[in-house]
Amino acid sequence: MHINTKLIHGGISEDKTTGAVSVPIYQTSTYKQNGVGQPKEYEYSRSGNPTRHALEELIADLEGGVQGFAFSSGLAGIHAVLSLFSPGDHLLMGDDVYGGTFRIFEKVFVKNGLEYTIIDTSDLAAIEEKIQPNTKGLYLESPSNPLLKITDIKAAAALAKKQNLLVMVDNTFATPYFQQPLALGADIVIHSGTKYLGGHSDVVSGLVTTNDSQLAQELAFLQNAIGAVLGPQDSWLMQRGIKTLGVRMEEHQRNALAVAEFLESHPAVVKVYYPGLTSHKGHELAEKQMSGFSGMVSFELKNERAAVPFVEALQLFTLAESLGGVESLVEVPSVMTHASIPKEKREAAGIRDGLIRLSVGLEYVEDLLTDLKLGLAKAGV
Ligand SMILES: *Cc1c(COP(=O)(O)O)cnc(C)c1O
Repeated sequence: MHINTKLIHGGISEDKTTGAVSVPIYQTSTYKQNGVGQPKEYEYSRSGNPTRHALEELIADLEGGVQGFAFSSGLAGIHAVLSLFSPGDHLLMGDDVYGGTFRIFEKVFVKNGLEYTIIDTSDLAAIEEKIQPNTKGLYLESPSNPLLKITDIKAAAALAKKQNLLVMVDNTFATPYFQQPLALGADIVIHSGTKYLGGHSDVVSGLVTTNDSQLAQELAFLQNAIGAVLGPQDSWLMQRGIKTLGVRMEEHQRNALAVAEFLESHPAVVKVYYPGLTSHKGHELAEKQMSGFSGMVSFELKNERAAVPFVEALQLFTLAESLGGVESLVEVPSVMTHASIPKEKREAAGIRDGLIRLSVGLEYVEDLLTDLKLGLAKAGV
């Protein structure tokens, strides 16, 4: 079935009891049991809720997983996934992952005995070189955040599998519409559903899926044991958002390409990072492993100090963290989303102070280009 059809009919698209075409919001914490020790399908909403279950089936369908899991945020999902590991285990992690992902490794899991090494996962030799006897997992984003680096997921997974590493891919930027990491060899796919999947900047959520039933069992245990589940109302909003993922992603991509091309031709801009540009280092690979380039564009101004005045001068691009909503957003990673990464590590990964990240929304593209032109003029660059 084509993904556009799965977006509408995947998961559980009809209510069993009433036939309602929109999955009802089962706003309940518990369920009447038939007798002592004889629950019906659901027992307690941390362990399972029909609205959440429909969303979990949907993400599994979209990514080719056997079971899905919905969490109260992307980081709650990452927390559950990293809880699969034990003290003394070592992981390899991409060098420009989301700042909060870096923070949970560094400040939470290191304290609990996990070890990790940061590498450029787009460099396959670096992966091979840094595998240690206690290395148990490879964690990566592709396209990465905020430099849109592309990792060859198939090759990286094949390499990792030779050493029995668990391969975890944060697919937030691409979404299952443009990329399906499980089919490329990943074991677990993670999403901040807050971004493109929800798509309307109105819900915080995390989605995880796997194509391995043993891992699915372990994740189900951790989801229930840790308990950071997504509520029924938010699970419904996520399904509402996902129905239009296909049309939104096509339009995000169209607008992003126009913005990237405009920026690349502007004399005040030194570098544009967008996998859809032929000048992008990972362009050919992205063409091979993705069916589109998504809507995120990062760039650097010649004059680093103009970055803040520029973003503050914009009218349509809203100055805000987050991404993937219908509205265009702008931010400066070094002082916003990636401020939790120490400056040396940030700069070593290429995230300089003048770097600006755009989440290109669905506004009329000429209006977006005009906003950027005026902003650049106002910032005096
Ligand atoms: C936002 C984001 C996260 C964290 O998700 P939350 O829903 O904010 O907890 C993880 N990975 C990426 C790539 C993100 O953009």
